[in-house]
Amino acid sequence: MDSVMQVEKVISEFWASAPSNSLHLDTGEKAWAKPHVAIARGDDPLFLRNKAMIGPFHWTPEEAYALAFPDSPAPGSELRVISYVLPQTPETRADQSLEKTVPAERWALSRFHGEEFNCELRLHLAETLTRAGYPSAAPERLPGFAYRQSERFGLASNWSERHAAFVAGHGTFSLSDAMITRWGKAVRFGSVVSRIDLPVTERIYGDDHHAWCLWYAKGTCGACAKRCPVDAITTSEGHDKQGCFTYIREKTAPYATQTYGTGATPCGLCQVQIPCEAQVPPALL
Ligand code: SF4
Ligand code: SF4
Repeated sequence: MDSVMQVEKVISEFWASAPSNSLHLDTGEKAWAKPHVAIARGDDPLFLRNKAMIGPFHWTPEEAYALAFPDSPAPGSELRVISYVLPQTPETRADQSLEKTVPAERWALSRFHGEEFNCELRLHLAETLTRAGYPSAAPERLPGFAYRQSERFGLASNWSERHAAFVAGHGTFSLSDAMITRWGKAVRFGSVVSRIDLPVTERIYGDDHHAWCLWYAKGTCGACAKRCPVDAITTSEGHDKQGCFTYIREKTAPYATQTYGTGATPCGLCQVQIPCEAQVPPALL
């Protein structure tokens, strides 16, 4: 288990075989398209930058690992953050593209059942690596995982899958705060911190956290803002987290529960019908 290919194999085999990777539709289709993996060093200085920006409660990989293995902590230099992307399927994106005010059924199902699978995948990866001799933990699954108030960003968690994905080279943030990856914005993330020596993925955008968004890179586009039914994205202010949160809590989450029988907090209308839906905008690569 000492190569990236072997780690990718653990993830892709679980993606292919786990019954929980399902939208729970009669079609039997999977919740997610094929996953992709990237690796960051545990002591990458960007993790400290994230902590400084978000707040002292935000964990570095070293801190998360020490919580999981208090009797044998490790320096960040001996840790790797294995970050993976789970892209929405073309069918889910196509359905969601037709919606204007509430999420499509497939989108709501992937947000609910697909995230249940994602939680299993995090644990499966951490347990498989640990059994192979590389102690590992999924920070998002640790008992201490919680949301706190960040002075700068409002409600924020003490481990951010998106920030880990950025450091690992998967992609950058955007006008709507969501990540634009090589597989676009209609994706979800997971990660595991592992005491393992894996080669690190090249971060081709350096430390520019907005490099792959047309608005920040070229002052054009703004398509995601037009997709939001409550104007919670604007080119002047970016993402209005509170406005977004309120709409999801009051409208889309109750709608999904009543209509599709799902929990969770689906919306994501701003993640489709846009140039970065399933790719980095070609003008930026
Ligand atoms: S739709 Fe355009 S402005 Fe919005 S995140 Fe994508 S590239 Fe940026
Ligand atoms: S997720 Fe938030 S920002 Fe995006 S469309 Fe829904 S309410 Fe608007």
